[in-house]
Amino acid sequence: TIVKETREFQAETKQLLELMVHSIYTNREIFLRELISNASDAIDKIRFESLTNHALLEGNEDFEIFLTPDENTNTLTIADNGMGMTVDEVVENIGTIAKSGTKVFLEKAKNAGSVAENELIGQFGVGFYSAFMVAEKVTLITRAPGQAKGVKWESTGDGTYTIEECKKEFRGTTIVLALKQEFYSSEHPEENFLSNYTLQSLVKKYSDYIRYPIKMNFNKEEKPVDAEGKVIEDAAPKQTVEVRTLNSMTPLWTRAKSDITQEEYHQLYKNMFHAWEDPLDIIHSKVEGAVEYTTLLFIPTHAPFDFYQREATTGIRLYSRNVFIMDNCQDLLPEYLRFVKGLVDSPDFSLNISRELLQHSQQLKLVGKNLEKSILKTLETMLNKDRPKYETFWQEYGRAIKTGVYADYNSRDKLKDLLLFPSSHSEELTTIKDHVGRMPENQKVIYYATGKDRVAVERLPQMEILKDKGIEVLYLFDRVDEFAIDAMHEYKDKKFQSVSRGDLDLEDIGADDSKKETAELAKENDALIKAVKEQLKGKVVDVKISNRLKSSAVCLVSGDSGISLSMEQILSEMQK
Ligand code: ADP
Ligand code: MG
Repeated sequence: TIVKETREFQAETKQLLELMVHSIYTNREIFLRELISNASDAIDKIRFESLTNHALLEGNEDFEIFLTPDENTNTLTIADNGMGMTVDEVVENIGTIAKSGTKVFLEKAKNAGSVAENELIGQFGVGFYSAFMVAEKVTLITRAPGQAKGVKWESTGDGTYTIEECKKEFRGTTIVLALKQEFYSSEHPEENFLSNYTLQSLVKKYSDYIRYPIKMNFNKEEKPVDAEGKVIEDAAPKQTVEVRTLNSMTPLWTRAKSDITQEEYHQLYKNMFHAWEDPLDIIHSKVEGAVEYTTLLFIPTHAPFDFYQREATTGIRLYSRNVFIMDNCQDLLPEYLRFVKGLVDSPDFSLNISRELLQHSQQLKLVGKNLEKSILKTLETMLNKDRPKYETFWQEYGRAIKTGVYADYNSRDKLKDLLLFPSSHSEELTTIKDHVGRMPENQKVIYYATGKDRVAVERLPQMEILKDKGIEVLYLFDRVDEFAIDAMHEYKDKKFQSVSRGDLDLEDIGADDSKKETAELAKENDALIKAVKEQLKGKVVDVKISNRLKSSAVCLVSGDSGISLSMEQILSEMQK
């Protein structure tokens, strides 16, 4: 047992609370969405656990979320009969910030002005703590199944919280918000969080698809009825209370595509994935075949700020007949598609096997293959039909696709036509296909040049002859580009050739009439070359007369085999 104790929040939590308490973020109504989504997650958890351990439910199995606005105490209560929390879990989940995203949020907020700060709140979805945007005191009372006692946690968001044991009859979590005055006496009805009407519309707006009923009491005045059920018109009205369910609960993805508005898709996306802006693209399909499933996928408009640093986690949720099974299902999509968010719902996923086994099941593999296919198809269509949109996509995720090309042997071939590169042709990006389409017919290789940017590449002495002959060169500015090019090796029988590597064999395209000349020059200057070689002994492999230079006197090139100059640079940087 624990007696009432006052504890300090972890430093980072304090910072976050400080921000929430003083927030001038205009969209403060999202606290309700956050708390409802936590309640729903908690019910998901117990519902899933109870499939293999029915006793957990303690006979309380009508899952629901209950909202109670109280005008006498100016409090709003959000109660669920979900998984609840033990003391340790409360301290762990509520007192500290475990999510790395929230930590980064704080870093950013520290450096941002208050305007940017407010944008950040929306961007990161700070969950439970958003309650402090509208409440001066938050009380959380919770009991996990099987626990004799509950836990009461309370804080005014001032840096400390109290925690003590308490009685709680029903399993689950109850959160009581003592609202700040402006939120129960606001002139703006939409900011009065004790108003049934406001709460109802917020639930409709943000939480309509939540799969458990979100209920609220409504006071009703009714005239009494007589024995035959007829209203007695002249009797005094009777006060009654009616419980209503505010949300429609039908999971969006089970409805027909034609009945779903763009806005509904966007709300679900923001809700489920804590996103703050509309997605770039949506894929919604029902598939019948070896495995039957419905999928709803989103391509976020922006990659997360830490997308290229962190470990790969996918954002795909699994459901079976609308019942949530798991988050972040691994192995469903190849790693290079880890930016895709969404869900798969299939009656063929068995709820009664462990998540680990499910994760490796045949059905899941099959679904994963199909998902990859349809995502790539969507991208291909975007590339062909809406180039500006695809370039937005490319800006955000191009690197992931390129990583797929070099790291994912199985997907390499499917990805090559999705790649975009800058080139000497114009300022625009080009596909390899378009690039090859512009080549002289007898050009056998695809030339590419690596460098920091366009200016650096165009200054390369190696570029001179190609520019002179009007031969188009792909530019590789990103360090992963060359890995991708190397992995592909060739495109439709045309090998990739670095302009900084070995000899540029330009004869085939009639651009080289100087080979003989070069040979003669080499003979004439034999003594000079020998002297230079002697001077650079141990530093270069060979010294040659070249036909590739126009205005520069010398250039460094890589041999025909071995690693390239730019890779050498990357490798030596990695060793630092
Ligand atoms: P997130 O939901 O993204 O994990 P939150 O800040 O919203 O972050 O919640 C933090 C954690 O607190 C949750 O992950 C969960 O473990 C716990 N929690 C919050 N609300 C509830 C609840 N109603 N029932 C059980 N656990 C909860
Ligand atoms: Mg949450």
